[in-house]
Amino acid sequence: MLTDNYNRTHNYLRISLTDACNFRCTYCMPNEDMLFTPAQHLMQTHEIIKLAHFFVQQGIDKIRLTGGEPLIRKDFDAIVTALSKLGITLTLTTNARLLHHHLFHLINSGVKSINISLDTLKPDRFLKITRRNDFEKVKANIFLCLEQAIRVKINVVLMHGINDDEILDFIRLTKHHPLHVRFIEFMPFDGNQWQADKVITHYEIIAKAQQTFDIIKMKDAVNDTSKKYIVPGHAGTFAVISTMSEPFCNSCNRLRLTADGKMKNCLFSNGEVNLLQALRNGQDLLPIIKLCVQQKAKALGGQFLPEIKNVDATKISNRSMIKIGG
Ligand code: SAM
Ligand code: SF4
Repeated sequence: MLTDNYNRTHNYLRISLTDACNFRCTYCMPNEDMLFTPAQHLMQTHEIIKLAHFFVQQGIDKIRLTGGEPLIRKDFDAIVTALSKLGITLTLTTNARLLHHHLFHLINSGVKSINISLDTLKPDRFLKITRRNDFEKVKANIFLCLEQAIRVKINVVLMHGINDDEILDFIRLTKHHPLHVRFIEFMPFDGNQWQADKVITHYEIIAKAQQTFDIIKMKDAVNDTSKKYIVPGHAGTFAVISTMSEPFCNSCNRLRLTADGKMKNCLFSNGEVNLLQALRNGQDLLPIIKLCVQQKAKALGGQFLPEIKNVDATKISNRSMIKIGG
Protein backbone atom coordinates (compact mmCIF):
# COMPACT_ATOMS: atom_id res chain seq x y z
CA MET A 1 0.00 0.00 0.00
CA LEU A 2 1.13 3.55 -0.72
CA THR A 3 0.73 5.28 2.63
CA ASP A 4 2.18 8.69 3.49
CA ASN A 5 3.44 10.17 6.75
CA TYR A 6 -0.06 11.39 7.62
CA ASN A 7 -1.48 7.87 7.31
CA ARG A 8 -3.26 8.60 4.04
CA THR A 9 -3.45 5.56 1.79
CA HIS A 10 -3.41 6.17 -1.96
CA ASN A 11 -5.54 4.02 -4.24
CA TYR A 12 -6.35 6.54 -7.00
CA LEU A 13 -3.98 7.50 -9.83
CA ARG A 14 -4.65 10.24 -12.35
CA ILE A 15 -2.66 9.79 -15.53
CA SER A 16 -2.25 12.69 -17.92
CA LEU A 17 -1.92 11.45 -21.50
CA THR A 18 -0.84 14.73 -23.07
CA ASP A 19 -0.29 18.38 -22.29
CA ALA A 20 -1.83 19.36 -25.62
CA CYS A 21 -5.45 20.28 -26.18
CA ASN A 22 -7.96 21.12 -28.87
CA PHE A 23 -9.41 23.87 -26.62
CA ARG A 24 -7.66 26.90 -25.12
CA CYS A 25 -9.47 27.51 -21.82
CA THR A 26 -8.23 30.76 -20.38
CA TYR A 27 -7.99 29.50 -16.79
CA CYS A 28 -6.04 26.38 -17.74
CA MET A 29 -3.70 27.17 -20.63
CA PRO A 30 -1.30 30.07 -19.97
CA ASN A 31 -1.34 31.38 -23.52
CA GLU A 32 -2.81 30.39 -26.81
CA ASP A 33 0.54 29.72 -28.47
CA MET A 34 1.80 27.45 -25.74
CA LEU A 35 4.42 24.92 -26.87
CA PHE A 36 3.36 21.36 -26.23
CA THR A 37 5.83 18.69 -25.15
CA PRO A 38 7.34 16.81 -28.12
CA ALA A 39 5.98 13.27 -28.48
CA GLN A 40 9.29 11.54 -27.65
CA HIS A 41 9.30 13.19 -24.21
CA LEU A 42 5.82 11.92 -23.45
CA MET A 43 5.10 8.50 -22.00
CA GLN A 44 4.63 6.05 -24.87
CA THR A 45 1.70 3.61 -24.93
CA HIS A 46 3.69 0.69 -23.49
CA GLU A 47 5.26 2.93 -20.83
CA ILE A 48 1.87 4.16 -19.63
CA ILE A 49 0.68 0.58 -19.37
CA LYS A 50 3.82 -0.58 -17.54
CA LEU A 51 3.66 2.27 -15.03
CA ALA A 52 -0.09 1.82 -14.50
CA HIS A 53 0.42 -1.90 -13.94
CA PHE A 54 3.15 -1.19 -11.40
CA PHE A 55 0.93 1.24 -9.51
CA VAL A 56 -1.92 -1.29 -9.49
CA GLN A 57 0.43 -3.81 -7.87
CA GLN A 58 0.97 -1.21 -5.10
CA GLY A 59 -2.75 -0.88 -4.34
CA ILE A 60 -4.08 1.56 -6.95
CA ASP A 61 -7.61 0.45 -7.89
CA LYS A 62 -8.89 3.52 -9.74
CA ILE A 63 -7.29 5.29 -12.70
CA ARG A 64 -8.52 8.49 -14.31
CA LEU A 65 -7.18 9.48 -17.72
CA THR A 66 -6.83 13.21 -18.17
CA GLY A 67 -4.66 15.84 -19.84
CA GLY A 68 -4.53 18.26 -21.70
CA GLU A 69 -7.23 16.62 -23.68
CA PRO A 70 -6.82 12.83 -23.42
CA LEU A 71 -8.95 12.13 -26.50
CA ILE A 72 -6.52 13.81 -28.89
CA ARG A 73 -3.98 11.02 -28.36
CA LYS A 74 -3.96 8.71 -31.37
CA ASP A 75 -3.38 5.67 -29.15
CA PHE A 76 -6.21 6.58 -26.75
CA ASP A 77 -8.32 3.51 -27.56
CA ALA A 78 -5.30 1.20 -27.28
CA ILE A 79 -4.42 2.66 -23.87
CA VAL A 80 -8.01 2.15 -22.70
CA THR A 81 -8.05 -1.45 -23.94
CA ALA A 82 -4.86 -2.25 -22.03
CA LEU A 83 -5.84 -0.47 -18.82
CA SER A 84 -9.28 -2.09 -18.83
CA LYS A 85 -7.54 -5.43 -18.27
CA LEU A 86 -5.98 -4.30 -14.98
CA GLY A 87 -9.12 -4.97 -12.93
CA ILE A 88 -9.50 -1.36 -11.82
CA THR A 89 -12.15 1.33 -12.09
CA LEU A 90 -11.22 3.23 -15.22
CA THR A 91 -12.58 6.67 -16.02
CA LEU A 92 -11.65 9.91 -17.72
CA THR A 93 -11.97 13.67 -17.66
CA THR A 94 -12.53 15.24 -21.07
CA ASN A 95 -13.79 18.34 -22.82
CA ALA A 96 -15.97 15.89 -24.85
CA ARG A 97 -15.27 17.52 -28.24
CA LEU A 98 -14.17 14.15 -29.68
CA LEU A 99 -16.09 11.86 -27.37
CA HIS A 100 -18.45 10.51 -30.06
CA HIS A 101 -15.42 8.81 -31.70
CA HIS A 102 -14.47 6.93 -28.52
CA LEU A 103 -17.62 6.48 -26.45
CA PHE A 104 -18.51 2.99 -27.62
CA HIS A 105 -14.97 1.78 -27.15
CA LEU A 106 -15.01 3.21 -23.63
CA ILE A 107 -18.33 1.51 -22.88
CA ASN A 108 -17.07 -1.81 -24.25
CA SER A 109 -14.00 -1.40 -22.04
CA GLY A 110 -16.12 -1.12 -18.90
CA VAL A 111 -16.06 2.67 -18.38
CA LYS A 112 -19.24 3.68 -16.57
CA SER A 113 -18.65 7.28 -15.58
CA ILE A 114 -17.11 10.25 -17.41
CA ASN A 115 -16.33 13.77 -16.19
CA ILE A 116 -17.01 16.41 -18.85
CA SER A 117 -15.94 20.04 -18.57
CA LEU A 118 -18.50 22.66 -19.48
CA ASP A 119 -18.27 26.10 -17.90
CA THR A 120 -21.23 27.77 -19.54
CA LEU A 121 -24.56 27.00 -21.16
CA LYS A 122 -24.23 29.97 -23.53
CA PRO A 123 -22.58 29.25 -26.91
CA ASP A 124 -21.03 32.73 -27.29
CA ARG A 125 -19.57 32.55 -23.79
CA PHE A 126 -18.28 29.05 -24.51
CA LEU A 127 -16.30 30.50 -27.41
CA LYS A 128 -14.90 33.22 -25.15
CA ILE A 129 -13.79 30.77 -22.43
CA THR A 130 -12.46 27.92 -24.58
CA ARG A 131 -11.48 30.00 -27.61
CA ARG A 132 -13.18 27.31 -29.70
CA ASN A 133 -16.66 27.29 -31.24
CA ASP A 134 -17.67 23.79 -30.16
CA PHE A 135 -20.54 24.25 -27.72
CA GLU A 136 -23.08 22.28 -29.76
CA LYS A 137 -20.75 19.33 -30.23
CA VAL A 138 -19.95 19.15 -26.51
CA LYS A 139 -23.62 19.42 -25.61
CA ALA A 140 -24.54 16.66 -28.09
CA ASN A 141 -21.87 14.39 -26.65
CA ILE A 142 -23.10 14.95 -23.10
CA PHE A 143 -26.54 13.77 -24.18
CA LEU A 144 -25.05 10.89 -26.15
CA CYS A 145 -23.46 9.71 -22.88
CA LEU A 146 -26.79 9.93 -21.07
CA GLU A 147 -28.50 7.94 -23.83
CA GLN A 148 -25.91 5.24 -23.27
CA ALA A 149 -26.52 5.27 -19.50
CA ILE A 150 -23.06 6.64 -18.74
CA ARG A 151 -22.90 8.55 -15.47
CA VAL A 152 -21.93 12.11 -16.40
CA LYS A 153 -20.37 14.63 -14.05
CA ILE A 154 -20.18 18.15 -15.48
CA ASN A 155 -17.16 20.13 -14.25
CA VAL A 156 -17.87 23.87 -14.07
CA VAL A 157 -15.02 26.17 -13.05
CA LEU A 158 -16.80 29.18 -11.59
CA MET A 159 -15.21 32.62 -11.83
CA HIS A 160 -16.56 36.00 -10.76
CA GLY A 161 -17.37 38.14 -13.77
CA ILE A 162 -17.15 35.22 -16.18
CA ASN A 163 -19.90 32.67 -15.45
CA ASP A 164 -21.09 33.34 -11.89
CA ASP A 165 -24.53 34.26 -13.26
CA GLU A 166 -25.07 30.66 -14.42
CA ILE A 167 -25.11 28.82 -11.07
CA LEU A 168 -28.90 28.52 -11.05
CA ASP A 169 -29.08 27.54 -14.74
CA PHE A 170 -26.69 24.67 -14.12
CA ILE A 171 -28.77 23.52 -11.14
CA ARG A 172 -31.93 23.76 -13.29
CA LEU A 173 -30.26 21.44 -15.79
CA THR A 174 -30.34 18.69 -13.15
CA LYS A 175 -34.14 18.86 -12.97
CA HIS A 176 -34.92 16.62 -15.95
CA HIS A 177 -31.49 15.15 -16.71
CA PRO A 178 -29.55 12.78 -14.45
CA LEU A 179 -26.47 14.99 -14.65
CA HIS A 180 -24.13 15.60 -11.74
CA VAL A 181 -22.94 19.19 -11.89
CA ARG A 182 -19.75 19.96 -9.96
CA PHE A 183 -18.89 23.59 -9.38
CA ILE A 184 -15.11 23.91 -8.99
CA GLU A 185 -13.50 26.77 -7.11
CA PHE A 186 -11.00 28.52 -9.40
CA MET A 187 -7.46 27.44 -8.49
CA PRO A 188 -4.11 29.18 -9.01
CA PHE A 189 -1.64 27.65 -11.47
CA ASP A 190 1.27 28.96 -13.43
CA GLY A 191 0.21 31.71 -15.83
CA ASN A 192 -3.57 31.55 -15.28
CA GLN A 193 -3.94 35.06 -13.83
CA TRP A 194 -5.58 33.76 -10.70
CA GLN A 195 -6.90 36.39 -8.33
CA ALA A 196 -8.56 35.85 -4.99
CA ASP A 197 -11.55 37.95 -5.94
CA LYS A 198 -12.31 35.73 -8.96
CA VAL A 199 -12.93 32.69 -6.73
CA ILE A 200 -16.55 31.81 -5.96
CA THR A 201 -16.55 29.80 -2.78
CA HIS A 202 -18.60 26.85 -1.62
CA TYR A 203 -20.34 29.17 0.83
CA GLU A 204 -21.29 31.66 -1.90
CA ILE A 205 -22.53 28.95 -4.26
CA ILE A 206 -24.78 27.41 -1.64
CA ALA A 207 -26.10 30.81 -0.55
CA LYS A 208 -27.00 31.55 -4.18
CA ALA A 209 -28.64 28.13 -4.66
CA GLN A 210 -30.70 28.52 -1.48
CA GLN A 211 -32.24 31.78 -2.72
CA THR A 212 -34.15 29.79 -5.36
CA PHE A 213 -34.16 26.11 -4.37
CA ASP A 214 -34.77 24.04 -1.27
CA ILE A 215 -31.59 22.04 -1.29
CA ILE A 216 -30.60 19.00 0.71
CA LYS A 217 -27.05 18.07 1.65
CA MET A 218 -26.24 14.52 0.57
CA LYS A 219 -23.82 12.14 2.27
CA ASP A 220 -20.29 12.30 0.85
CA ALA A 221 -17.99 9.29 0.64
CA VAL A 222 -14.77 9.35 2.70
CA ASN A 223 -12.46 10.29 -0.17
CA ASP A 224 -14.89 12.54 -2.05
CA THR A 225 -13.46 15.87 -3.16
CA SER A 226 -16.93 17.30 -3.66
CA LYS A 227 -19.71 18.26 -1.28
CA LYS A 228 -22.92 16.95 -2.81
CA TYR A 229 -26.43 18.46 -2.78
CA ILE A 230 -29.76 17.66 -4.37
CA VAL A 231 -32.89 19.64 -5.08
CA PRO A 232 -35.72 17.25 -4.11
CA GLY A 233 -37.44 15.96 -7.23
CA HIS A 234 -34.48 16.66 -9.53
CA ALA A 235 -33.11 13.78 -11.59
CA GLY A 236 -29.51 14.90 -11.06
CA THR A 237 -27.42 16.46 -8.29
CA PHE A 238 -24.94 19.26 -7.85
CA ALA A 239 -21.77 19.53 -5.81
CA VAL A 240 -18.95 21.90 -4.96
CA ILE A 241 -15.25 21.11 -5.18
CA SER A 242 -14.03 23.49 -2.51
CA THR A 243 -10.27 23.15 -2.96
CA MET A 244 -9.60 26.78 -2.11
CA SER A 245 -12.00 27.53 0.75
CA GLU A 246 -12.37 24.12 2.40
CA PRO A 247 -9.71 21.73 1.09
CA PHE A 248 -10.12 18.00 1.49
CA CYS A 249 -6.41 17.18 1.96
CA ASN A 250 -7.00 15.14 5.15
CA SER A 251 -8.67 12.37 3.19
CA CYS A 252 -6.71 12.69 -0.06
CA ASN A 253 -6.09 9.34 -1.76
CA ARG A 254 -4.75 10.69 -5.09
CA LEU A 255 -1.44 10.50 -6.91
CA ARG A 256 -0.63 11.94 -10.32
CA LEU A 257 1.47 11.09 -13.32
CA THR A 258 2.10 13.91 -15.77
CA ALA A 259 2.18 13.25 -19.52
CA ASP A 260 5.99 13.48 -19.49
CA GLY A 261 6.13 10.80 -16.81
CA LYS A 262 6.71 12.85 -13.66
CA MET A 263 5.04 11.65 -10.49
CA LYS A 264 3.34 14.32 -8.37
CA ASN A 265 2.05 13.49 -4.90
CA CYS A 266 -0.35 16.48 -4.94
CA LEU A 267 -1.91 18.84 -7.48
CA PHE A 268 -0.07 21.70 -5.79
CA SER A 269 3.27 20.01 -5.06
CA ASN A 270 6.26 21.67 -6.68
CA GLY A 271 8.37 18.55 -6.27
CA GLU A 272 8.24 15.97 -9.03
CA VAL A 273 9.90 12.61 -9.53
CA ASN A 274 10.95 11.54 -13.01
CA LEU A 275 9.41 8.07 -13.10
CA LEU A 276 9.60 7.82 -16.89
CA GLN A 277 13.37 8.29 -16.85
CA ALA A 278 13.66 5.76 -14.03
CA LEU A 279 11.61 3.29 -16.06
CA ARG A 280 13.71 3.89 -19.17
CA ASN A 281 16.90 3.42 -17.07
CA GLY A 282 15.61 0.12 -15.71
CA GLN A 283 15.72 1.39 -12.11
CA ASP A 284 13.69 -0.14 -9.29
CA LEU A 285 10.57 2.05 -9.20
CA LEU A 286 9.19 1.01 -5.82
CA PRO A 287 11.58 2.95 -3.54
CA ILE A 288 11.23 6.00 -5.78
CA ILE A 289 7.44 5.92 -5.65
CA LYS A 290 7.35 5.22 -1.90
CA LEU A 291 9.66 8.14 -1.16
CA CYS A 292 7.52 10.45 -3.30
CA VAL A 293 4.39 9.36 -1.40
CA GLN A 294 6.10 9.81 1.98
CA GLN A 295 7.13 13.34 1.04
CA LYS A 296 3.54 14.44 0.44
CA ALA A 297 2.81 17.66 2.33
CA LYS A 298 -0.02 17.75 4.87
CA ALA A 299 -2.11 20.13 2.75
CA LEU A 300 -2.14 22.04 -0.54
CA GLY A 301 1.35 20.91 -1.52
CA GLY A 302 2.68 22.86 1.47
CA GLN A 303 2.43 25.96 -0.71
CA PHE A 304 -0.45 27.99 0.73
CA LEU A 305 -3.22 28.04 3.31
CA PRO A 306 -6.96 27.93 2.61
CA GLU A 307 -7.34 31.63 3.37
CA ILE A 308 -8.17 32.76 -0.12
CA LYS A 309 -7.66 36.47 0.47
CA ASN A 310 -4.08 35.84 1.64
CA VAL A 311 -3.04 33.52 -1.19
CA ASP A 312 -0.26 35.12 -3.23
CA ALA A 313 -0.35 33.28 -6.57
CA THR A 314 3.06 34.71 -7.54
CA LYS A 315 4.64 32.76 -4.67
CA ILE A 316 3.20 29.41 -5.75
CA SER A 317 5.61 27.38 -7.81
CA ASN A 318 3.84 24.84 -10.02
CA ARG A 319 3.16 23.95 -13.63
CA SER A 320 0.11 25.24 -15.44
CA MET A 321 -2.97 23.02 -15.03
CA ILE A 322 -2.77 21.79 -18.61
CA LYS A 323 0.80 20.58 -17.97
CA ILE A 324 -0.12 18.83 -14.72
CA GLY A 325 -3.28 17.07 -15.81
CA GLY A 326 -6.42 18.06 -13.94
N1 SAM B 1 -9.27 18.58 -21.12
C1 SAM B 1 -10.00 17.86 -20.14
C2 SAM B 1 -11.13 18.69 -19.59
O1 SAM B 1 -11.15 19.90 -19.80
O2 SAM B 1 -11.98 18.11 -18.92
C3 SAM B 1 -9.14 17.30 -19.02
C4 SAM B 1 -8.05 18.17 -18.47
S1 SAM B 1 -8.59 19.60 -17.57
C5 SAM B 1 -7.05 20.25 -17.07
C6 SAM B 1 -9.26 18.85 -16.10
C7 SAM B 1 -10.15 19.72 -15.27
O3 SAM B 1 -9.39 20.74 -14.67
C8 SAM B 1 -11.26 20.39 -16.06
O4 SAM B 1 -12.50 20.09 -15.48
C9 SAM B 1 -10.95 21.84 -15.92
O5 SAM B 1 -12.10 22.62 -15.90
C10 SAM B 1 -10.21 21.89 -14.60
N2 SAM B 1 -9.36 23.06 -14.43
C11 SAM B 1 -8.43 23.54 -15.28
N3 SAM B 1 -7.86 24.66 -14.78
C12 SAM B 1 -8.45 24.90 -13.59
C13 SAM B 1 -8.30 25.91 -12.60
N4 SAM B 1 -7.44 26.90 -12.74
N5 SAM B 1 -9.08 25.85 -11.50
C14 SAM B 1 -9.98 24.84 -11.35
N6 SAM B 1 -10.16 23.84 -12.24
C15 SAM B 1 -9.41 23.88 -13.35
FE1 SF4 C 1 -8.02 21.89 -22.62
FE2 SF4 C 1 -9.33 20.87 -20.54
FE3 SF4 C 1 -7.50 22.80 -20.19
FE4 SF4 C 1 -9.75 23.44 -21.39
S1 SF4 C 1 -9.54 22.69 -19.26
S2 SF4 C 1 -7.66 24.00 -22.10
S3 SF4 C 1 -10.23 21.58 -22.45
S4 SF4 C 1 -7.11 20.78 -20.89
